[in-house]
Amino acid sequence: ERLVGSVADGEDTAVEAALRPKDLGEFVGQPKVREQLDLVLRAARQRGATADHVLLSGAPGLGKTTLSMIIAAEMGAPIRITSGPAIQHAGDLAAILSSLQEGEVLFLDEIHRMSRPAEEMLYMAMEDFRVDVIVGKGPGATAIPLELPPFTLVGATTRAGLLPPPLRDRFGFTAHMEFYEAEELERVLHRSARLLDVSTDEAGAREIAGRSRGTPRIANRLLRRVRDYAQVKSDGVITSEIARQALAVYEVDERGLDRLDRAVLESLLKLFNGGPVGLSTLAVAVGEERETVEEVAEPFLVREGLLARTPRGRVATPAAWAHLNLTPPASSRA
Ligand code: ADP
Repeated sequence: ERLVGSVADGEDTAVEAALRPKDLGEFVGQPKVREQLDLVLRAARQRGATADHVLLSGAPGLGKTTLSMIIAAEMGAPIRITSGPAIQHAGDLAAILSSLQEGEVLFLDEIHRMSRPAEEMLYMAMEDFRVDVIVGKGPGATAIPLELPPFTLVGATTRAGLLPPPLRDRFGFTAHMEFYEAEELERVLHRSARLLDVSTDEAGAREIAGRSRGTPRIANRLLRRVRDYAQVKSDGVITSEIARQALAVYEVDERGLDRLDRAVLESLLKLFNGGPVGLSTLAVAVGEERETVEEVAEPFLVREGLLARTPRGRVATPAAWAHLNLTPPASSRA
């Protein structure tokens, strides 16, 4: 469990319900997505129709679940929440679909991880609001058509490119969620602080925002850890100094790198002169599994422009040397 991990842990799940914006107006950032979704939903409401199916793509923690709940709220509709991995058989999906009410929002997280047969059933359900339930096995099997009430599917995926085109094409509206600007995360933090009854000044929120990796979930999690520190070590008010001290304890640096991220960068710089070095060699040097380095640490280092993956191996950028306050060897200096 990483403090800067973007997937929800148990504590997140418990607290997040209270921190979720309830309507589009409260939803911070993502101005394009908000504007477009507002039009889609208003138009559907004016026509008295069920909203088109919506596909949300983007990294974990950027607000996909929150937006799906907002869509339901804005449409005055109930919502059902499930996920691709929870639907292993087409029958699981048929059971859910056939119990939906008219206009209901079905949120399907990690939609790219659904089983093939379920996916095919979903095509027809999305397009014609109908499913064929197969009864029996072998040559005697029969398909019983089942009419469904119109519903709105909100699918979420980390990358829209992971979806088979026939599924992707059945969404009327696709939105890509970007990582948040630091200023937007400050607004998320001020809002969360108010809801959690925590006092934080401008500089305190800015300090946390800068370390939150563009992700509201991480911002909210760091806020809770800094709150604990402020409560135990001072008067409970989050200032920039308190935030810096607290996050030093948790080993989250000014840019949001944690111990693992820094270990990878440090090995790359100090042991391999900034690379290029192969992934396996780097992983051994850090004392981690290859997969951990590649899937857990590298994506953020690459996004931050600190590390590059090249055909010859991993290479540190000038920004990496600067970030760790190290001087690159003369030969690699431009
Ligand atoms: P995802 O489904 O993409 O993993 P969630 O919708 O569960 O992300 O969001 C994680 C947490 O981050 C939620 O508790 C919510 O409070 C907060 N959050 C996400 N996006 C926003 C936003 N735009 N404004 C305010 N809070 C947000």
